[in-house]
Order: sequence, then structure tokens, then C-alpha cells
Amino acid sequence: MATIGGQILCQAPDRSSSIREGVVRIEDDRIVEVSFEAISGSVDWGDAETFITPGFIDTHLHLPQFDSIGAFGMPLLDWLSEVIFPAEENWNDMDYARSMIARVIDQCLSVGTTGICAYATSSYDATITALDMFQRVGLRGVIGQAMMDRAAPMSLTVPTEQLIEQVEAALQQFPPTGRMATAVTPRFALSCTESALLAAADLARRFDAMIQTHLAETRRECEVVSKHFDGMPYVDVYDKMGLVTERSVFGHGIYLDDLSVARLVQAGSVIAHCPTANSFLGSGTMNRNDHLAHGVRLSLGSDVGAGFERSMVRVGRAMIEAAIAKQFQSDAFRRTGMIDYAKVPTAPQAWYQITAGNAEAVRWKDGGRIEVGQPADLVIVQPDVPWRLARCPLSTLMYSWDDRWVRHTIVNGRHYTIGPNGAGVRTEKGESLGAVR
Ligand SMILES: [Zn+2]
Repeated sequence: MATIGGQILCQAPDRSSSIREGVVRIEDDRIVEVSFEAISGSVDWGDAETFITPGFIDTHLHLPQFDSIGAFGMPLLDWLSEVIFPAEENWNDMDYARSMIARVIDQCLSVGTTGICAYATSSYDATITALDMFQRVGLRGVIGQAMMDRAAPMSLTVPTEQLIEQVEAALQQFPPTGRMATAVTPRFALSCTESALLAAADLARRFDAMIQTHLAETRRECEVVSKHFDGMPYVDVYDKMGLVTERSVFGHGIYLDDLSVARLVQAGSVIAHCPTANSFLGSGTMNRNDHLAHGVRLSLGSDVGAGFERSMVRVGRAMIEAAIAKQFQSDAFRRTGMIDYAKVPTAPQAWYQITAGNAEAVRWKDGGRIEVGQPADLVIVQPDVPWRLARCPLSTLMYSWDDRWVRHTIVNGRHYTIGPNGAGVRTEKGESLGAVR
């Protein structure tokens, strides 16, 4: 049992958020009480200047790419073959994979991420190891074996039948009902044969599993996909294979025509917006406003390692910046020199997105909210700037954010202390994370 006092991030029905002073009580893996009252001296952690937020949820990231952040100057397809495939080949060595997964877990906890929708590599063993290690630490989420049976180096392609058997085995070992589960993850249309894409859809249906893949990230990619699939629009390719479902999370979705958008809306599929990755690879800027106006379900992801920010707070800020950049291209801006703030998300909306908004988008009933009965996935933040009485405290926090403010990350009731100056993540008993994993 533990009590934490501070300013609690509360979500509003209009998909925004605010702070209220109060005390959160957790018992075992759950939040058992949230009382909005002045903080007494008897709480275990926190004071009136502490910020308590639900753990952040990152709905699109690549675990084997954390060491590849910053390889600048290449468009997507070149970057994949020159930087990413060699990095992912390293995970065929299980000792290497294990040590890197450990570091990735440390980094997730250090920036307050408690929920993930992640890609591993095409290695089954490395994928299972990642699922196992994340589960031991207590994180919520899905990890998928990045399915590739064509158009990748030999060391990363898996023969179709074997690949399908492996994904099925992973689904049995880490079923979608678990806190850490397997997601069916065809890397993207070009990296799978039609047989693999069809089998992926079939497995997802049979196991009621989440599907993750990439969609319309760059113009060049769209052209190559269209050429490979007889001129078919990108969404239609996935649709024909049975992969456009309400459990599908499509990374990026920048270049889509109205019919494709309408199909995604009709299916209830999600587009995971990844603004840092899109600017880094020079891919383009997703039109968030347009997608929302059409009724697309949107989530937000870091897309590490094309995305260069591990912190979802900074990705939230990048979402705001991307929406402003989109405004600069508008006729209205050219005419008036002013942006329309109604079309730009606010910081309280961005806080909503990286917590409850992302949980809702990927249809998790657990996570993203500080409410009684929810799993205890929390981040305890100690800002070193005056923020509580600022004009918009949540905006001040988001724009002056410093990862060093993250003092404790609690996942499923397990308490991890984030050491200052790279001292590492420690358990409540002071053990290093190695003892837990
Ligand atoms: Zn990605």
C-alpha cells in the first residue's frame, strides 16, 4: 500500500485534461482511492508541487531501433536498408538482443512510458524474449514479431510457413487477453508475400489480436506499393488481405485519398500519428485536423528510431508543432499571416492524447487514467520550475519538460525509482532492474 500526493492529471470528456490537488492510494497492482483534498503530511510520496500523471502510452515504437536514433539525411526506404536492417540483424544474436531489450526497458521507465505498442524484429526468439522481459517488469502492451518473408536481407526474412507458425506460437504464449500480448505485425505491405498477409489477417481474426503495420508514410513508398500491387491504393491492399479492422493500428497514414480515409473510418481502424519520425525522415506532415474532421481514430507514437524522442511528452509537443506547421501551409495563413488556434491541439489535449487518448484509440480499458479500479500505472514528477500557478500549468509543464523530473514510475503497482544523472532505474528495495528481469 502506498499514498501519493500531488497535482493529479484528470481527463475531461472533451478529450482535454486539467490538474486537481489530491491523494492517490494504491494497493498491490490497483488504484484503490483517489481523493481530491489538500495533501496532508502523511503521504508516502509527493507534495503540492508534485505532478502525478497516468503512465504514458506509446502506440508505435520499434524496440530494436533505440540505438539507431539520429541517422539523419535519408528517406525512409534507404534508411531502412542502410541503417535499420543492419541494426535489426544484431537481434539474431540473443545475448545482444537480451542486453538491448534491458536497456530499452530502462529507457521506457525513465521517461514514464508504461504502455507500448511495439515492433520487435523478425526473430521469433527475440520477440518472445522481449515479451517475457517486458512482462516481468510489469509494463502493459503488445509486441509483435516484425513479419518479413520478402524484400529484406536473407538474415531477416523468414520462410512464409515458418513465419506463420511462429506468429501463431507467440499468440498462444502471449495471448491478446494478457497485460503483455502478441500483436500480429506484418512490417508493411512490401515486406510480406500475399500468403503471409492473408495468414496474418487470419491469425488476428482467430485470436482477436491487435494488428500493427505501416501505411502511407512517404510518397515514394506509396508509389512502390501501388506498382507492386497492380495500381491498387495502399489501404485497398491491406483491405483485400483482411487487415483493415477495428483492431488495426496503422503507423503514419500521411498520404491517403478520401476513399481510403473513409474506409479506415468505416472499419474503425487507428492511425498512429508519429510527428517526430515524419519530420526526421522528411516524409511529410500528417493532416491531423483533416483526419479528425473525417472521424479517423488517431493515436500518437514516438516511432523510435525514426522518431528521435523517447519521451511521449515531447512527442505530444511535436504533435502540436506539426499542427502549427500545417497551418503555415494554409491559404488562410498566406492571406492573414495568422494561424487558426482552433485547429491546433492545446497542451491539455496533448496530455490527454498520450494517456487516456492513446488507451482509448487502441481499445484498452485499462490504463491511461487515474481512477479507482484502474491498474496502478503512474508517473511521479517533481518539476524544478514554478508551474502550479502558471497561466496554463499543463502547458508550462509540457513546454519546459525535463526527463530528469521523472522520479518514480509505477507499473502495475510495482515501484521503480529513476536515479538522477544516469544512476539507472531501481526497484523499491533498491535493486537494479536486472534482478527483476
Ligand atoms: Zn514504424
